[in-house]
Amino acid sequence: MEIIHISAECYPVAKAGGLGDVVGALPKYQCRAGHFAKVVMPMYRTKFLYENEWDIDFKGQTYMGGRYFEYTIIKEKHNKLGFELYLVDINGLLDREKVYGYDDDNERFLSFQIAVMNWMNHWEHTPDIVHCHDHHTALIPFMMQFCYEYKKLSNTPSVLTIHNAQYQGVMGWDRGRYIPAWDGWKYGMLDWNKDLNPLASGIKCAAKVTTVSQSYLNELRYHSNGLEKLFEYEKGKCMGILNGIDNEVWDPSTDTYIEHHYTAEDVTKGKKENKKALCAKFGLDETKPLFVFIGRLVGEKAADILPDAIMSALYNMPRQLNFLILGSGDPAVERRLEGMMINYASVYHAVIGYDETLSHNIYAGADFLMMPSRVEPCGLNQMYAMRYGTMPLVRSTGGLQDTVVDMGDPGGFGIRFNHATAGDLLHAISRAVGLFDDKKKLESMRKQMMGIDHSWEATVDQYLNMYKALQ
Ligand code: ADP
Repeated sequence: MEIIHISAECYPVAKAGGLGDVVGALPKYQCRAGHFAKVVMPMYRTKFLYENEWDIDFKGQTYMGGRYFEYTIIKEKHNKLGFELYLVDINGLLDREKVYGYDDDNERFLSFQIAVMNWMNHWEHTPDIVHCHDHHTALIPFMMQFCYEYKKLSNTPSVLTIHNAQYQGVMGWDRGRYIPAWDGWKYGMLDWNKDLNPLASGIKCAAKVTTVSQSYLNELRYHSNGLEKLFEYEKGKCMGILNGIDNEVWDPSTDTYIEHHYTAEDVTKGKKENKKALCAKFGLDETKPLFVFIGRLVGEKAADILPDAIMSALYNMPRQLNFLILGSGDPAVERRLEGMMINYASVYHAVIGYDETLSHNIYAGADFLMMPSRVEPCGLNQMYAMRYGTMPLVRSTGGLQDTVVDMGDPGGFGIRFNHATAGDLLHAISRAVGLFDDKKKLESMRKQMMGIDHSWEATVDQYLNMYKALQ
């Protein structure tokens, strides 16, 4: 099958979170399974663009409402990522350094989608599957079916994968004119609560909708930022497929970002060496258990409860533990986490920002990873942590619930709690401190976690079978 993935992110070209990881890996494993998967994404001005060689694949022009624009599609020359990678350049809209966070994000991603449609419309053939990811590309299924210009693609099946339903790309109906001429009777396929809602439109129009874990799909029918009824209504075409992880990028025995490599066999030694280096870097104590958090500092991740939980832990269990935080997001949470360094210098450190290298070193050197998330569609961090023998402390929600079994349950290897509160997290931390003293049990759980197979090889077939059913 020929599958085209359309996405705002793809690791290592541009990544802001789990979406990038998934789109950087899934197509590679689809190609390895004998299919022809490719990715098209915006041409941001990132390091990857300047460090690689490109061919011009296509030059076109089209309109977004009354606004005429020209676009260029370039293709990475050597298939470095294991699949064909195409970037769309639109001057004035996509030529930015960051993926998101601009006032005109709606126009940016609309123009990207229109350019991709226009490009595919010029192909001599049609792909077997058009696979869209999140709201930035969720208007494509509508355009394929109801824009007169793109009739050629109206019989091609489209799939929408929802990595995060909190963000829906909602815009006022004044932007409706930007979409290339469409069948006005189909107004309802774009509308949700009197707004133009790309994610809702994608759910209505795609042939199949997937979420990145089964538990998340179940939750969306009760909490989905206003789309609950839609998920209930469309449940027949929705399915959950748990994300995999790229075992080649995330492998403690070969990871190029970390200094001391290890396998499950020598996990105790390997983690000790990595922890030593990590603690030395941030003035922490390598003899104490090291608790870490990596991620976006936003409400979904419950980053706001971290300061209280950490301060309570340090107050209740003085001199017994260390904390290290890596993340960025809500400025108020950033300031609080940063400010705490003054009072807790030798047991706490926060790095505010995004740092891929450091994240790998933290997974390798930490003892426990905290994920108190309020919402977690799949969560990759806990899977990476387990692969590196780091025990996850997670709230029982979404994909965390599907991947972590509490150590108190048969065959368990992690710590789960029910509420995104400082109290629940504190309790989980105290259980972890108890485990840290039982070195034998800790080592056997580390080995157990490292043996769990969350690879894409194990999950790629679920996507392929779903595509086949649509042919
Ligand atoms: P989400 O996509 O909701 O942010 P996921 O758990 O699915 O969460 O994916 C998060 C990914 O982003 C992981 O690869 C994680 O290591 C990475 N990440 C998040 N924040 C940072 C950061 N500040 N520095 C480095 N990597 C980060």
